[in-house]
Amino acid sequence: MVHKVIIIGTGPAGLTAALYAGRANMSPVIFEGPQPGGQLTITTDVENYPGFPEGIMGPELMDLFRKQAQRFGADTISLMVDKVDFSSRPFKIWAGDNEYKTDTVIISTGASAKLLGLESEKRLMGYGVSACATCDAFFFKDKKVFVVGGGDSAMEEAVFLTKFASSVTIVHRRNEFRASKIMQDRALSNDKIDVLWNSEVIDLIGDESKGGLESVIIRDVKTKQDKEHQVDGLFLGIGHSPNSKLFKDYLDLDEKGYIITEPGTSKTSLEGVFASGDIQDQKYMQAITAAGSGCMAAIDAEHYLESI
Ligand code: NAP
Repeated sequence: MVHKVIIIGTGPAGLTAALYAGRANMSPVIFEGPQPGGQLTITTDVENYPGFPEGIMGPELMDLFRKQAQRFGADTISLMVDKVDFSSRPFKIWAGDNEYKTDTVIISTGASAKLLGLESEKRLMGYGVSACATCDAFFFKDKKVFVVGGGDSAMEEAVFLTKFASSVTIVHRRNEFRASKIMQDRALSNDKIDVLWNSEVIDLIGDESKGGLESVIIRDVKTKQDKEHQVDGLFLGIGHSPNSKLFKDYLDLDEKGYIITEPGTSKTSLEGVFASGDIQDQKYMQAITAAGSGCMAAIDAEHYLESI
């Protein structure tokens, strides 16, 4: 059997593509990745997704997306795609022991926020620890927060956080930032921001069932001295990596591994393969923009199917 469309990834982009493809009678098959529901499942309250004036929990929002897609016939398969072959048509996709054939593919595998790799960080994610200031800064009104990183993301997050937090400390592992000068200047000239140079976060203290993060242990990389700092929030601004490894032999990627799409569309460098969400967006990275681009991908795939 040759499917009309296979969608890879079940974040807001993939599930919106599935909803639109389902309603267009394309009987979409959609594969989950290692993090079903995508990055929203590692946040708690989502207050900036329109239509939920009281906010909604990230996992609950993604559950609603999934139910809505399934209502229109999307077949959600809880398997990881291990391999693809886009060298001939129909395209081939392998998941578990099964091979699937399809005329079109929508890639919505997202990007993953880089994490420090601490066990305590995983446990406290959404409970004081966040990898998205745009999503979570609002919960830190008049609180003391730390931001890890020295690139543009960390500067941007730190400046954004000053609109809410009482103080923002940037923790950076070296003695100079890699961020652009303008972004550094903006951060360093802000009265609410200070910097701990040559410093690494080595552990987080707190209990997710009792108010979450309480403090962070910071090591001075030069003196090797550790110090505990009381904080209400810790934001990771150490970059993202696109989940594009499976596709690198078939599609044009940029130097960081993001899939290149034709501006204003979801078309990749290979006809019949479309990309939506964070896998092709390093700028907006929001659930609502991912959902919008998932809608575009389903419409682009539908038009392509009509043309072959
Ligand atoms: P980035 O430029 O790769 O910077 C990552 C930062 O995190 C670096 O300072 C790095 O330290 C630090 N870091 C990485 N892993 C770490 C670890 N395990 N522990 C501690 N620190 C760690 O990433 P980005 O800031 O996300 O920027 C990505 C791209 O998007 C850049 O091209 C940037 O210009 C662009 N961007 C632009 C804007 C804007 O213009 N508005 C906003 C955001 C992003 P080292 O410096 O020591 O390596």
